[in-house]
Amino acid sequence: MTSVGFIGLGNMGTPMACNLVAAGLQVTGHDVAEGARTVAAAKGVDIADSAVAAAANRDVVITMLPDGAALLEVYRTIMADVRAGTVLMDCSTVDIASARKAHDMAAERNLPSVDAPVSGGIAGAEAGTLTFMVGGDPQACEAVRPLLDIMGRTIVLCGGPGCGQAVKICNNMILGISMIGVCEALTLARELELEPERVFDVVSTSSGSCWSMNDYCPLPGVGPESPADHDYRPGFAAALMLKDLGLSQQAAASVDVATPMGAMAASVYETMVASGMGHLDFSAVIRHVRSLTRE
Ligand code: NAD
Repeated sequence: MTSVGFIGLGNMGTPMACNLVAAGLQVTGHDVAEGARTVAAAKGVDIADSAVAAAANRDVVITMLPDGAALLEVYRTIMADVRAGTVLMDCSTVDIASARKAHDMAAERNLPSVDAPVSGGIAGAEAGTLTFMVGGDPQACEAVRPLLDIMGRTIVLCGGPGCGQAVKICNNMILGISMIGVCEALTLARELELEPERVFDVVSTSSGSCWSMNDYCPLPGVGPESPADHDYRPGFAAALMLKDLGLSQQAAASVDVATPMGAMAASVYETMVASGMGHLDFSAVIRHVRSLTRE
C-alpha cells in the first residue's frame, strides 16, 4: 500500500487527504494548527505530532501550504529525515523562485520532486475533480500520477521544475482580469437598465463568453449556481486571488514582461481586500466595482 505524508491540512489539504484515505492509501498528516489537525482526524486522517513524523518513511510526501515561505520552512524541517526514494510533491500555490528552490533542496538529497499546484477550489478538492498543473522530472511526475488521478480529474504535465507553478500563475492572472471585466460589464448593463439574465444569455454564447461569466457568474440568480448565490461565501477567497495576482506580477517582473491588465487587476483586488472583503469569494469584486461607480 502506498504510504503518504500530508503536511498542511487546511481547506484544501484535508479534503485532498480524505480522498486518498478513501482510496485505501495509508495517509499520515500534520498541520501546525491544532484546529486543522482536529478536523482532519475527525475525517479519518491519521495525525502525526510533527512534520518530521508525517514525512519520515513515506513513499510520497505532499505539502499543501499557504505560500513559498511555509513550503521552504517545512522542507528545511523534514529534509534530513525523508528516506531515500520518497517523492516530494508540493501542491500549494507558491512563487516560482520558491518552487525551484524546493526542487533544488530535494535534488541535493537525490529525492525526486514535483510541483503540482491545483485549480478547482474546495469543491474540486472534495469531489476529487481538481486540475493539477505538474512540473518536474517526467519520471517523478509519472510516479505520483496514481495519486493525482485520485485527487483530480485533469492532469497536465507542464514541463520541468517550477513549470506547474508558472502555468498556474498565468491561468489565475487571466481569471483575475476576466472576473473584473465581467463585473464591469454587468455593472454597466445594470446602469443601462438591461435585464441581467438577457445579458448572461447573450454573453455566455457570444465572443464575451468566459468561465467567469458562464460558470461562475458574479450575480445571484443568474447562470449556474455560484458563490454569488451564497452571499459570496468562497469558493476562492479574494485574499487568495490577490496572492496569486501578486505572484504573477512578481513572475512578470522577473522576466521583464509588461502585464498592465494583470497589474491593474492586482491593484483592484488589493483595494478590495484592504476594504475588508478579503474573506469573500473573489467574484464579490462586483461589490467593489459598484462601489467605485457610486463614488
Ligand atoms: P489554508 O490556509 O486553509 O491551509 C493551509 C494550512 O497550512 C493551514 O491549516 C496552516 O495551519 C498550515 N500550515 C501553515 N504553515 C505550516 C507549517 N509550517 N507546517 C504545517 N502546516 C502549516 O489554505 P488552503 O485554502 O487549504 O490553500 C492551500 C494552498 O492551496 C494555498 O497555497 C492556496 O493558494 C492554494 N489553493 C487554494 C484554493 C482554494 O480555493 N482554497 C484553490 C487553489 C489553490
